[in-house]
Amino acid sequence: MAEQRLYRTEAIVLRHVRSGEASRILTLLTPGYGKVRAVVKGVLRPTSHMAGHLEPFCRSRLLLAHARGMDIVTQAQLVESHAGLREDLDKTTAAAYAAELIDRLTEEEHESPELYHLLCYVLAWLAGGPDLDMPLRYLETQALALSGYQPELHRCQACKRPLEPGLNGFSPTAGGVLCAGCTVNFGDARPLSLNALKVLRLLEQDDLAQLRRLKLPTALSRELETLLRAYVLYVTEHQLRSLAFLETVREAPPAPRRAAPPIEEA
Ligand SMILES: [Zn+2]
Repeated sequence: MAEQRLYRTEAIVLRHVRSGEASRILTLLTPGYGKVRAVVKGVLRPTSHMAGHLEPFCRSRLLLAHARGMDIVTQAQLVESHAGLREDLDKTTAAAYAAELIDRLTEEEHESPELYHLLCYVLAWLAGGPDLDMPLRYLETQALALSGYQPELHRCQACKRPLEPGLNGFSPTAGGVLCAGCTVNFGDARPLSLNALKVLRLLEQDDLAQLRRLKLPTALSRELETLLRAYVLYVTEHQLRSLAFLETVREAPPAPRRAAPPIEEA
């Protein structure tokens, strides 16, 4: 048997699918290797020692074998099970959304220690408390910022003037806030209340002590949820389209070389 290169890493299980009789293919988030897909053989047999260490949202220390095609999980030791996330349907739904968001924003073999620690923090926050809204809004804003999509929250994205207090707008295609006058020019702009803008700025500042004390009225919570989900959807679809475009460029035959234009002297 060919010698396999082994490596150790901590990982969070983002999701799993069954493979064959008793195996599963896991999508893992790791701090040093980004997203990793790996097979864990025989995990569905009652005799498997690894089953309880590799459920969705578990944080575990793993030993993996690098293999052609797909890596293989050979050992797993639980660090944090986040059991509460699998016992309450609302928490399971929130954690699944968190895992899916990170799955869509990360690439394979692209190290992301900040995203890894962010997801660890948010899963523990969801597991430990009754509030499911603020942890998800925190995850959305921080994950978007880490991926280069931090929305502009201080000046109108169209006319660049500072925002007036009152009703402004938010547009995913514009990448942030719009003043009342410019809002009408963007088809996807939605109204943004002054309180929602204040919470978005707090989320941007990453002031966890204050964020964890905030109790938002339901209407404000729903306004932020609708707005950030629309922005997340826009960004992830935009990313998927860019990836698809990259794939077509990679598959296309190389374009004939053209002579470089002459450099004009200033
Ligand atoms: Zn404007």
